[in-house]
Amino acid sequence: MGAGAAGLAAAIFSAEQGPHLTIELLDGAKSIGAKILVSGGGRCNVMHDVVTPDDFFGTRHLVRNVLAAFPVQETVAWFASLGVKLKCEETGKLFPVTDKARTVLEALVARCRELGVVLRPDHRVTDIARMNGAAESGGIEPARFVIRHQQGETYARRLMLATGGQSLPRTGSDGSGYGLARRLGHHVTSIVPALVALVLEDRCFHEKLSGLSQEVELQTLVEGRSVDRRTGSLLWTHFGISGPVVMDASRFWCLARERGETAQLYGNFLPGRTIDQAREWFLAHTAKNPRRSLLKMFAESLPERYVETLCHHVGGDPQQACGQVSRAIRDRLLTALTRFPFPVVRDRGWNFAEVTAGGIPLEEVNFRTMESKLLPGLYLVGEVLDCDGRIGGFNFQWAWATGRVAGRAVAASLPARSDC
Ligand SMILES: Cc1cc2nc3c(=O)[nH]c(=O)nc-3n(C[C@H](O)[C@H](O)[C@H](O)COP(=O)(O)OP(=O)(O)OC[C@H]3O[C@@H](n4cnc5c(N)ncnc54)[C@H](O)[C@@H]3O)c2cc1C
Repeated sequence: MGAGAAGLAAAIFSAEQGPHLTIELLDGAKSIGAKILVSGGGRCNVMHDVVTPDDFFGTRHLVRNVLAAFPVQETVAWFASLGVKLKCEETGKLFPVTDKARTVLEALVARCRELGVVLRPDHRVTDIARMNGAAESGGIEPARFVIRHQQGETYARRLMLATGGQSLPRTGSDGSGYGLARRLGHHVTSIVPALVALVLEDRCFHEKLSGLSQEVELQTLVEGRSVDRRTGSLLWTHFGISGPVVMDASRFWCLARERGETAQLYGNFLPGRTIDQAREWFLAHTAKNPRRSLLKMFAESLPERYVETLCHHVGGDPQQACGQVSRAIRDRLLTALTRFPFPVVRDRGWNFAEVTAGGIPLEEVNFRTMESKLLPGLYLVGEVLDCDGRIGGFNFQWAWATGRVAGRAVAASLPARSDC
């Protein structure tokens, strides 16, 4: 159940390996694939050209094993076989050459139809019951699950939970899969929005910089301990901060807040330089050009609008000659440049998050098959699991890889001779 990226991939791989199987994809949404359509700004960043376990947050060796089951080249070839040619951009992100997410969705759906997979939109699943005690007769395995949905009931010998996370709930991925998993005996770790923008206190100057992008080194501290450090592009917005580096770091801030821990986010707008190095540079520069304004001096390596705003923020004058800047202002400016404490009040919430951090622990799944270790016949794939990737196509890669492993395993567990 769940006809998103992971569910569609799993159905295709199952049907290819087990043409004798009857495969139904139940989905709560009226039309399937909404998340694929909005992904990558409508272009669908299908995957990345280099994929390593470091690009994911999840139990490392399990993530590594799953990814190894569907290497990059095989994924590219699989999409080519579906008629989706991919192009690699400078960032390493792969998109369909058409630059249209619809190309990806249509190819997946077309392949499902070709293989006889039955797509059932508007079938929101509300409950799953296990059937006990039915004896195998004539080599035919009886149904193990009764799936209750809006349109009635479906019986199944195998059940795949591909209900996604909770990000962008209007697409159908509203987090209801976690409740179903719990009722089937699984644990679900705390879930929080990830790859999400962060809202800053109103008193901060972000609104003045809205639309401006710049490089920053972000450090996240939880209970005073550094848990993440990364450098990349930050985008100032009318509500706070966004951009790839912020989105990638957001999960740490959100998880800490969820646990009731203090989380702080610091920015170094001179990435790679310490405050001492910045001071040395300032003094050397001032000695050479004492009459140069602060604005001119810093605008050599930083956007002018940002320098102007930051000078005002620390009580300085961007037009003042650097040789005349007081030590107090200089130090405040250098501190703000190299260790700016972002006054984060909250994340932007599920409606703006691209993915979910947390979910069903990977330890509860056999990584060779994606079958539940707690309930035989149940398979778990995609974002519903406790694994989230950084920005760049990694979350879809997780969906394709888990879908392939599970799809093939389901078909292997139901050989043709036992088909009914
Ligand atoms: C705005 C946005 C942009 C993104 N861009 C990218 C990108 O470019 N690259 C990338 O790698 N990742 C991207 N992602 C993340 C990526 O879309 C997801 O990680 C991926 O879709 C997860 O696949 P999934 O199949 O596990 O879940 P989903 O794709 O969310 O599919 C889950 C399906 O299950 C169905 N469902 C849920 N509950 C029930 C129920 N109770 N009964 C029946 N059906 C149910 C839903 O309707 C949905 O169709 C983006 C996400 C968002 C929100």
